[in-house]
Amino acid sequence: MIRLGLIGYPLGHSLSPRIHAAALAACGLDGNYSLFPIPPEDREGLRETLERVRSGGIDGLNVTIPHKQNVIPLLDELTPAARAIGAVNTIYARGETLIGENTDAPGFMADLERFLAGPQPPIERRALAIVLGAGGAARAAAWGLIRSGWKVAFAARRVEQAETLANRFRADNDTELRAVPLEAEALRPLLRECGLIVNATPVGMAPNTGASPWPEALPFPTDAAVYDMVYRPRETRLIREARLAGVRAESGLGMLVEQAARAFECWTGRPAPRRAMLEAANQPD
Ligand code: NAP
Repeated sequence: MIRLGLIGYPLGHSLSPRIHAAALAACGLDGNYSLFPIPPEDREGLRETLERVRSGGIDGLNVTIPHKQNVIPLLDELTPAARAIGAVNTIYARGETLIGENTDAPGFMADLERFLAGPQPPIERRALAIVLGAGGAARAAAWGLIRSGWKVAFAARRVEQAETLANRFRADNDTELRAVPLEAEALRPLLRECGLIVNATPVGMAPNTGASPWPEALPFPTDAAVYDMVYRPRETRLIREARLAGVRAESGLGMLVEQAARAFECWTGRPAPRRAMLEAANQPD
């Protein structure tokens, strides 16, 4: 019996239970994936749930907002990726050692590479990537992008948050990193060298599907690609408008499945059944 689950708050619309239930079934494994809604102020609830992983009562956990950073002091070890990113989305135990991993970053890079390898003209991989937002998902994206040779500009509505992120990565890398306000006039000078826009804000996510994080008055750069980490709906306003402008655009559903697949492999030691997981994620609500 494999006991898996997700800690975060709120957890109403998570696709993870159905993705992991499909993975367990496709592997012929008996198990379940439960939701553990833990409010941000419930430190004791968080600690108790992690102790259940240490004692073997739970075999693996995913972590989402608002606990991706809160869990770090409660863990014994971080993988190099989780340490560099400063956020954890997957927890498991080896013996009694609690380990924190980040599968968002490799999940994002794997799906981005698949998307960029598509039939359209190639994107210059060492161009500038503009990352919209400066939270946990932006950090995971930047870690992967920098390692792959991209220059990165963080664009955030609170520019100081973008500056903090740029400084954090500057300390460990020679890559060119910039921080700008998420505004048309600040982004306009970057468009000529921009090869990729990554939305790492929740803007456009259901139910607020009429919103886009890309400033209204700003054209999309030509010969660029747009990757929207939001996966509900599949075609966000950002994706729709990019495609209308002739710019290829992809949703974050593939990233969601890939980060889940890598977590499943950490927990079970088995290759993840990605096709079954993607089919489950694609099921209508
Ligand atoms: P987070 O840590 O809360 O960061 C969100 C970022 O977006 C912050 O910089 C925040 O700025 C900014 N933001 C929020 N509302 C905004 C608005 N109305 N206008 C401009 N900026 C805004 O969240 P996260 O973990 O990075 O997640 C961000 C998004 O990525 C979520 O939608 C999440 O579902 C998605 N995601 C997808 C995957 C996947 O597998 N596809 C994986 C991880 C995350 P403030 O701090 O000023 O609010």
